[in-house]
Amino acid sequence: RIAFIRGQFVPLAEAVIPVMDRGFLFGDGVYEVTAVIEGRLVDDTPHLARLARSLAEIDIPNPFAAPEWTAIEKELMRRNGLRNGLIYIQVTRGVAERAFAYADGLAPTVVLFPQFQPVQYSPLTKTGARIITLPDQRWTRCDIKSTSLLAQVMAKHAVSQAGAHEAWMTRGDQITEGASSTAYIVTAGGDVITRDLSPAVLPGITRQTILKIARARGLTIVERPFTRAEALAATEAFYTSASTIAIPVATIDGHPIGDREPGPVFQDLYAAYMRDLMDLPEA
Ligand code: PMP
Repeated sequence: RIAFIRGQFVPLAEAVIPVMDRGFLFGDGVYEVTAVIEGRLVDDTPHLARLARSLAEIDIPNPFAAPEWTAIEKELMRRNGLRNGLIYIQVTRGVAERAFAYADGLAPTVVLFPQFQPVQYSPLTKTGARIITLPDQRWTRCDIKSTSLLAQVMAKHAVSQAGAHEAWMTRGDQITEGASSTAYIVTAGGDVITRDLSPAVLPGITRQTILKIARARGLTIVERPFTRAEALAATEAFYTSASTIAIPVATIDGHPIGDREPGPVFQDLYAAYMRDLMDLPEA
């Protein structure tokens, strides 16, 4: 695998970052994950816009303009022969003597590497996923795509211990979002409910695209918090992320959702998403 590390394309196995990088010492950085499907760089523009926003929120200068980012991504795809997988981007504040407060003028560290796992054709789109709920232990700025991910590491470990596929995290009675995905339920009336954007959740790029498709198909979208009890009573539930597109939920904490099968709303949105995607040109 070829990575882009601090300005150069190098074999990932040989890539190194200084120990004094603030990303290593403090998790002082942000990241993005963009899918590549059949040679298409999926939702590149909004992913780069969210990267720019995350950087601005924590006062790290954006090292590249959007067209420069895209050029690096395309070169990374070319050098790796990447047609199906993920591009991981990380930007940290840079290298400095260890101290919590930072000086101005540090040079941000930029890292990109590919992952070759296929994004589409997940068997879970047919079988549905097993979800566990657990308390959302993250900070109060979940809208920033921070590399400080201890709460998610702990949540995903609990998921794997439980033999489940994803965790939906709760604050009080309410579900905030998945450990690495946006959560949705469908009511008996056919409305699609997902939490409204706020510092409590990451503004999902796949969420943006799925909601646009859902509106175009005449579905009613209600952006509001929903409770675990509402989710258990839902006729359908599903989640979205760049790395999974969309996955239907079979069970939550062992309780079947609907008839446990991928529901019609999920199937319609997923098919529409894949059709729209294949209409796009290759990168
Ligand atoms: N919420 C969280 C906490 C996530 O980590 C992710 C995945 N990056 C998402 C939502 C989904 O966002 P996106 O659709 O942009 O991948």
